[in-house]
Amino acid sequence: MPELPEVETIAQDLAKAGLAGKRIADVEVHWPRTVAHPSPADLRKRLIGQVIKSIERRGKYLKIALSSGECLLIHLRMTGRLLIARAPTEQLPHERVTLIFDDGDELKFIDTRKFGRWLLAEDPEEVLGKLGPEPLGPEFTVRYLEQLCRKSQQLKPMLLDQSCVAGLGNIYVDEALWRAELHPQKKADTLSKEQITKLHVSIQQVLQRGLKASGTTLGKGLTNYYRLDGSRGSHQEHLDAFRRTGKPCPRCGTPIRRLVVGQRSTHICPKCQAYP
Ligand SMILES: [Zn+2]
Repeated sequence: MPELPEVETIAQDLAKAGLAGKRIADVEVHWPRTVAHPSPADLRKRLIGQVIKSIERRGKYLKIALSSGECLLIHLRMTGRLLIARAPTEQLPHERVTLIFDDGDELKFIDTRKFGRWLLAEDPEEVLGKLGPEPLGPEFTVRYLEQLCRKSQQLKPMLLDQSCVAGLGNIYVDEALWRAELHPQKKADTLSKEQITKLHVSIQQVLQRGLKASGTTLGKGLTNYYRLDGSRGSHQEHLDAFRRTGKPCPRCGTPIRRLVVGQRSTHICPKCQAYP
């Protein structure tokens, strides 16, 4: 699933591809359930004629600001992908929504597993306001993480909770916990100040590393994350723990072990990240 570095890369790719300034001439909804709000017919009516003003990321959402002041929010979820094509084009396999611009370009939303969602909001804060702070932003301080850690909850589910901190998912949480040498089931309120500080810097470091590598593309299938031009991220080459089951821990050589935490596949070094 695309997380902060992957969604940020796509937002930047869209901006670089010149999406801002394009006027929407038509909208095709091929899979109605992709449009969470409003109805597909209303989405079409409200989008036609609008000009795209800017593309940003917030948490795992793409936030596309429109000339009316409304915002198109796109959540890629498991397998959502975007690509820009020069019209006229044929509908691709798994194409769910298409924006057709008046210059002939098309923005295609491809989503094999159909969990991705589009949402047109007058006030995006109704959705985005529920998210916790950006982990690379000024609000995500050691002090903020310290406050989060006052509750007795397991570290991994806490970090995956988008209302605690926005944009982290399975890959970067496993990587951050490995780096901080913390077991994913350790209770947050048992962390020392030193461990909280180390976790804070670890979260930021793994995200920076992911951004620098333009995200993580695991495997070769169509359900993976790809950039706007179809190229792959390279962060999979830098992973220390995630999906490295049986391979040596880069720090101590112990084979990485897979376990399940809160129904999520989790990867740890059993020596560096001792069970609490
Ligand atoms: Zn280790």
